[in-house]
Amino acid sequence: MKIIKSINKLNKQVDFKANIGFVPTMGALHKGHLSLIDSSKKKCSKTIVSIFINPIQFNKKKDYKNYPRSLTRDLKILKNKKIDYVFLPTIDQIYKEKSNTKININNKDKILCAKYRKGHFEGVLAVINQFLKIIKARYIFLGNKDYQQIYLIRKFIKNKFNTKVITCKTIRDTNNLAYSSRNFLLQKNDLLIASKIIYKIKKFYNSIKKNFKNINKLNSVKKDIIKNKIKIEYLEIRNKNNLSKKYNKKNFKIFIAFYINTIRLIDNF
Ligand code: AMP
Repeated sequence: MKIIKSINKLNKQVDFKANIGFVPTMGALHKGHLSLIDSSKKKCSKTIVSIFINPIQFNKKKDYKNYPRSLTRDLKILKNKKIDYVFLPTIDQIYKEKSNTKININNKDKILCAKYRKGHFEGVLAVINQFLKIIKARYIFLGNKDYQQIYLIRKFIKNKFNTKVITCKTIRDTNNLAYSSRNFLLQKNDLLIASKIIYKIKKFYNSIKKNFKNINKLNSVKKDIIKNKIKIEYLEIRNKNNLSKKYNKKNFKIFIAFYINTIRLIDNF
């Protein structure tokens, strides 16, 4: 495994004519990340994993500061996975020019996380833009847990890069809680509370699948969660193809963002 810290070295060491798979991460690796890596290793001849905590996608300084960091552990995991390249760029390298930090999204797309985390996806798209200029990958592997992120990245890179998005399913623990780097910031009991909320959402999803009329129970599900003093940022049902509120029993998707203490978790079913 080659650990590469500069764009120059990356260009020297990687043969971009090969079938390259790219897995962008912010580190604090977990089984969700590992499943993306497995997909890339299966489909591509070489896999590049980046670890870069992108400062401009954090709408709160404190959140950026507290984001879990475990580089030594991460590198060990990646070495065991036998991946080809780890890319660890500095902030200065990624954002050499200030203009590189500005990518706008449509007002129409300012929903769900984009509504509540102002500037978040602008920052995500900016870093993806920079990465795909540097890493000429055939495929980029992204997780379904961040569904809106995939939706916006797919739209953004469609006519701009030759890289194809591969969507990977959400990996969950035995309690149904999606793996997330932010879970490292939670105590055991908090994780249990989070998984109980996810269980309620999953149950709600299954009940709608059985009988679409149950979709009207959204508010009572919300109330049931809030009564346990959990702050829900949003709990919405949308069309999974275009994220509009016009959905039917075939294309509906449930989206949730909630807080356990100060830690924000998102999921979708
Ligand atoms: P992050 O390090 O949080 O920026 O995530 C890097 C990639 O891993 C993104 O494409 C995420 O959607 C994906 N990811 C995060 N959690 C999971 C999970 N539980 N299952 C599958 N993919 C995930």
